[in-house]
Amino acid sequence: MTLNSDDKQKLDTLLDGLENEAKKFIGYPCNDAFDYSELTPFWKHSINNIGDPFIESSYRLNTHSIEREVIKFFAELFHLDDTESWGYVTHGGTEGNMYGMYLARELYPQGVVYYSEDTHYSVQKLLRLIGLRSIMIRAMPSGAMDIEDLSASLALHRDAPAIIFANIGTTMKGALDDIDSITDVIKKNRIRESYIHCDAALSGMILPFMEDAPIFDFRQPINSISVSGHKLIGAPFPCGLAMARKNIVNRIARSVEYVGSLDTTLAGSRNALAPVFLWYAIRSHGIEGFKSIINKCVDIAIYAEEGLNKLGLNAWRNPHSITVVFDRPPEIINQTWSVAVYGKIAHIITVPHVTYEMVDRLLTDIKDSINNSEKEPHE
Ligand SMILES: *Cc1c(COP(=O)(O)O)cnc(C)c1O
Repeated sequence: MTLNSDDKQKLDTLLDGLENEAKKFIGYPCNDAFDYSELTPFWKHSINNIGDPFIESSYRLNTHSIEREVIKFFAELFHLDDTESWGYVTHGGTEGNMYGMYLARELYPQGVVYYSEDTHYSVQKLLRLIGLRSIMIRAMPSGAMDIEDLSASLALHRDAPAIIFANIGTTMKGALDDIDSITDVIKKNRIRESYIHCDAALSGMILPFMEDAPIFDFRQPINSISVSGHKLIGAPFPCGLAMARKNIVNRIARSVEYVGSLDTTLAGSRNALAPVFLWYAIRSHGIEGFKSIINKCVDIAIYAEEGLNKLGLNAWRNPHSITVVFDRPPEIINQTWSVAVYGKIAHIITVPHVTYEMVDRLLTDIKDSINNSEKEPHE
């Protein structure tokens, strides 16, 4: 396989463009600081993790053994005993959320899904795909689910199993739905059957490494978790992890065994590089490494918050979040920087590639854009 010189030129231009954009990539939760070049030889085989990672596959060009180590790491992180955990490396957070809702529906086809209005936009779509009834719950200004509104809605549907889609870090504001309060109101409403899924796309790799963070994990009555791999850990392609209690997955596995296979995952062919990349990051950073990475992300978030406030942009953060929310800046900023905007607000997320220097450059550009817009003649 070789390219002619025009095509090579095209690739060079594409890469230059990406390297330029990366200097202003500050509004999305995806870490751009990594070096997986040691893994290049793995591009040379048609590897595929088709099927259940815990079952020997006849597709022998697989990385199931490494995938199991990645799952083990997350099981420990989320306090689920090895023997009770099941998981697999997904194509991203969305697939993990879909998996959680799939398990919930298999258990409780008559269940009602409760999710807050600040939930990721993809969730409404997947609830339609799964075909579960659902109710949108108000979010508080912080972005967290309004527990009183949840309780009122639960009271109206007492006879239906309650399926809670909880956010562990909302997309826009990094807010945490309070799992303890959620379990309390389920009990108070005397609902006997319930299922809690945690969408921990970004914060699933933040909270476990903080000293004082609220607990969210399998010590609570949750059933499944989804985490993105390309967000805090970082990867050159989307990936993630779905984790669930094994006894629930076994029920599904059995029902599919009936048609001749243990088809426990959503996708058939699965990315076999993703587990190798995640394993590489996990092994090279280790728990202590991730702790110091998260510490630094928080320091930079605090720095950015202060700097934005000095410019009068009303910046704030939820506790235990590296998402800095502020007033939508002049349009010129959104055209040059990848600052994510939503209505009147914008955010930056200080994932590991975001440096003090990058924040300074953004602050300078925002300051200039505010000064320039003030100078413009009024009609
Ligand atoms: C990013 C995100 C998702 C979607 O995850 P992907 O990895 O992009 O599929 C879902 N929920 C939340 C809260 C997110 O931030």
